Parts: sequence; structure tokens; C-alpha cells
Amino acid sequence: MGKTVRQHLISYSGAVVAVIAATLVRLALAPVVGNAVPFLTFMAAAIILAWYRGFLPAAFSVPLSAFLGERYILNPSSNGQPLDRDDWAAILGFAMISLTVSFLIDFQRRTLRRAWAAEAAQSSAASENARLLKEAELAARRLTKYNDDLKRANRDLELFAYSASHDLQEPLRTIAISAQLIQRDLPPDQFDQGLVQQINLASQRMNDLIQDVLAYIGVAKMEQEPLPTIDTQRVLREVLERLNGSIMASEASVTSNELPLIAMHENRMAQVLQNLISNAIKYRSIEPPRIRIEASARDRFWEFSVSDNGMGIDPVFREHIFGLFKRLHSQAEYPGTGMGLAICQRIVEQYGGKIWLARSEPGKGSTFCFSIPIKSELEFGESEELRGASLHTMT
Ligand code: ADP
Repeated sequence: MGKTVRQHLISYSGAVVAVIAATLVRLALAPVVGNAVPFLTFMAAAIILAWYRGFLPAAFSVPLSAFLGERYILNPSSNGQPLDRDDWAAILGFAMISLTVSFLIDFQRRTLRRAWAAEAAQSSAASENARLLKEAELAARRLTKYNDDLKRANRDLELFAYSASHDLQEPLRTIAISAQLIQRDLPPDQFDQGLVQQINLASQRMNDLIQDVLAYIGVAKMEQEPLPTIDTQRVLREVLERLNGSIMASEASVTSNELPLIAMHENRMAQVLQNLISNAIKYRSIEPPRIRIEASARDRFWEFSVSDNGMGIDPVFREHIFGLFKRLHSQAEYPGTGMGLAICQRIVEQYGGKIWLARSEPGKGSTFCFSIPIKSELEFGESEELRGASLHTMT
């Protein structure tokens, strides 16, 4: 049997029971109230039914009440005589009032139920929200903790790498000096020249690696704040002076457009330019290197590009080359540590910028770009100068 049918049956049987109870109560009251308000208990039954079971069982109770009321309360001894006008008036009045009141009560009951349901849904949504909020807070706290742990682990690791690299310098120097002493003091036939040469090369390479690891770690130490404003044109000039030997040896030409004033530490900018320019010279083609440096303002960044006509890079390695110790050539072909681009990346990211391989074709050269934020007035007190610089360069 379906649930609603069963509920209907319960409601209508309830109506019958309520009407019988109303009849009995009214009969019990008869010695006290006589014939006055004969349908009062029936009306009460209809109202109770309307509230607990709805309008239909209440309406169902009305004719039943009219029948029992007339039979047992109004004319208990009429023996089937027709009803007079007063009886009809009492029955009709009872029926109309009961139906109207039951309808209104049922309507009120439904409205209240809807409000209660909405309130319950709202409070369950509120408690669900509170639960989610708690979970989010917990996740955020956990994330902060992981972040702190990660930062600490990173710091420890850098400290370890720094100490290890730093401490390695001393024994390395001893090895290099010992090799030199052997070369200087022993007669050439008493030692293996090739072996000593190998020791020299290996210690030089190890020294380069240590210096690069120290440089990479050193980038993490942010220098003085607020950032100074530097003239990148002047920084480039100084870098070119430092690279003068390799520029002359390779017959390289380096040109640039007018470079801007930017907010950055001078030694960091010099490190980036020097790494990119020396790579452009090192990874040259048979042509003398032609290197072009440009800068332009794009959105809120200065975008620098370093282009060359060198051997180029296969684009599949565009991400790979920025990895630590990642190289595309053997030591014998081109000496290097594979850390130059990783250092550049670490530097520009520290200033809120990015570095990427913008163009590269094997055999036709490549262009590396990096961006440095044009700082806003709020962050730096040198806005006038910087704004002047951006206008100056863009015109
Ligand atoms: P290193 O030069 O010490 O090997 P880098 O990190 O500076 O390390 O460069 C990584 C690799 O990217 C180099 O081994 C080289 O193969 C490639 N590369 C970098 N710059 C250039 C360039 N301008 N032209 C061609 N290849 C380059």
C-alpha cells in the first residue's frame, strides 16, 4: 500500500473518530448546557482536524458532524421527523463557519510549514557553510604550516649547499696548488704531465661549479630596500668592458637601443646581461657574433631582449635550458656549468619578472627575453624619475 493512500486512510479514520468523540463530549455537556450551541464541539473537531490533517479531512468531518449532531444533539427524540427552519439554520451555519475556518487554518498551516521548511533549509545551509569555513581555515592553516616547513627546508638546504661549496674551496685550492708545485719543482720525467694537466683542468672546472653554486645561492639574499634606480645603459657599458677580451677575440659586435632606468640592484642586472651576452658569444656560429640588446615598456614591465646570430637552440629545449646544471653540449665542446641561465632566471624572478627563450632556430640564432616590473609610485619613492625614463625610451 502506498504511503499517501495510507496517510489518507489515517486522516479520514481520524476524522470519523474525532466526530464521534465530539458527539460524545457534546452529549456529556448536554445536562449542563442543554440545547445551546449544539455544534460547538463539532466545530472544535473540524478545527483540530484542519490543523493536524488538513482541509479535506476537516471538510469530510462536517457532513458527518451535521448528521450526528442533528440525530443525537438537536433532535434526539424526533424519530425521523423533518427538520424545522431553526435546525437547518444551525446546521448550515455550522457547516459554513467550519468549512471557512478549516480552510483558513489549513492555509495558515501550509504557509507556516513552508516557512519552517525554508528556515530549516537555511539553518542547515548555514551550518554547512560554517563546516566548510572551518575546513577551509584548517586547510589554510595546514598550507601555511607546509609552506613554512618548505621554506625552512629550503633555507636549510641552501645553507648546506652554501657551507659545502664554501668549505670545498679550501681543499680544492690545496689540490690546485699541489699540482702546480709538482709541475714547478719536479723534473718533467718524474711525473705524468698529462695527469697533472688533468688535475689542473678538473680543479678549475670544480672551482667554476662552486663559484656558480655560490652565485646561485647568493641570489636568494635580497639586497638593500627600497630598490635603487639604475641606468641599464651604463650597466651594459660596464658589462661590455668586463667581456672585452672575449668580444675582441670573437670579433663580436654588441649594439643596443636606448636602455631605460629601472628599479633593480646593479650587480644583479649586470649578472643577467653578462650571462646572456657571454652565452651569445660562446654559442656562436661561424659568423662573428652580432648581438643586439633592446628594451621596451610593455604593460607594467620593462621587456629586455638579447638576440644573437649564433648556433641557435632546438625549441624543444626552451624550458630545459633554464634547469640547474642543464646543458646541451659536452664539456669538451663548450666549457660551462649549466647554471648561467638558472642564475638569470632566479634573479629576474626575485624582482617579479620572467625570462624566456623568445625565438630560436638552430643555425640562425636565438633571442632571450626577460622582464622586470616598472615599479609603481606606491612602492617606490622614485616615480618621477622612472616615469621620465619610460617616456624617454618609448619616444
Ligand atoms: P652553460 O653555458 O654553462 O652551459 P647556461 O645555463 O648558460 O649554461 O646555458 C644552458 C645551455 O643553453 C647551454 O649549454 C647552451 O646549450 C644553451 N644556450 C644558452 N645560451 C645560448 C645561446 N645564446 N645560443 C645557443 N645556445 C645557448
